[in-house]
Amino acid sequence: MALHVRGVLLPDDEVRDLWLVGDRITFEPVPGAETIADGGFVLPGLVDAHCHIGIARGATPITSLDQARALARIDRDAGVLAIRDAGSPFPYPELEDEPDLPRMVRAGRHIAPPRRYLRDIGVEVEAAQVAATVAEQAAAGSGWVKLVGDWIDRGVGDLAPAWDADTMAAAVAAAHAAGVRAAVHTFSESAVEIMVRAGVDSVEHGTGLSLDLIDLMARQGTALIPTMINIQTFGHIADQARPKFPGYADHMIALRDRFPEVVRSAYEAGVPIFVGTDAGGGIDHGLAAEEMLLLHEQAGMSTEDVLAAATWRAREWLGFPGLVDGGLADLVVYSDDPRRDLRVVREPTRIVLRGRVIR
Ligand SMILES: [Zn+2]
Repeated sequence: MALHVRGVLLPDDEVRDLWLVGDRITFEPVPGAETIADGGFVLPGLVDAHCHIGIARGATPITSLDQARALARIDRDAGVLAIRDAGSPFPYPELEDEPDLPRMVRAGRHIAPPRRYLRDIGVEVEAAQVAATVAEQAAAGSGWVKLVGDWIDRGVGDLAPAWDADTMAAAVAAAHAAGVRAAVHTFSESAVEIMVRAGVDSVEHGTGLSLDLIDLMARQGTALIPTMINIQTFGHIADQARPKFPGYADHMIALRDRFPEVVRSAYEAGVPIFVGTDAGGGIDHGLAAEEMLLLHEQAGMSTEDVLAAATWRAREWLGFPGLVDGGLADLVVYSDDPRRDLRVVREPTRIVLRGRVIR
């Protein structure tokens, strides 16, 4: 059964009719199609470009596919129809093809330095093993690997890079040699400098970015996934750490406080920015709309650019074509124009995933 949708198509900003036949979009009329939306604003399904359906509340690994399904459905029901899983301790390649789950690209497990990162989440390796581990995790994931570029070093009492610059550069080269892209978690100034210069494909969080590095990212096309909603939790992290690690606590607060200006500078410099929530662990699933609002309100991104960062541009970046002839049959419909009032993205009136009506 084909489906028919009529509404203002974004970003084209034109009233269009489109038809969904199986998992494909067509602009050729299909006789007998069921009209499921007439009016409103039609966008490609949202993308959460940084989340974890393999990590449960409390930063513990999930232990079953059903847990991953349940978390992914929370995102789906908020209109997120594609995700980039930024590291999972539990493998779930079979979920990529499940018709009622968001589309996904996956990193394998996080690759982290020994005894520093969240317990049981990453593969923890010394510098000499990093490149080989990247190759293994490239094979375990689908299109991405995830490096933990920094974390607290309890010996130093502050954030510190995971490995030296040569190791980081070899890690990125190993990812590219394996035909995948490399994403890196960074909070600190030092790690993000090493990783951007190493040619990493995406910076996750990036609280330590300088203006020089932002310019370099813009020139290289290095993406930034700010996860602003996650950076807001730095106060809580700092409070917990302060008795033992006061310098780290102060550093985290300073990084948090300057972050809206960092994202604003990246936006103004033309760095490709995408919407990611970092759901899993400390952040609930289903909050892509809240991250979109933060990018608009705190970082000054225009509503149109936020919508692009959450939908058509993100889909293009991850290889999931949007509302074009022959594109994938994922869409969301909003009753009002999200460019005028972005808050409408909290309440999609229609959600269609792979040509099937979810709402
Ligand atoms: Zn994450």
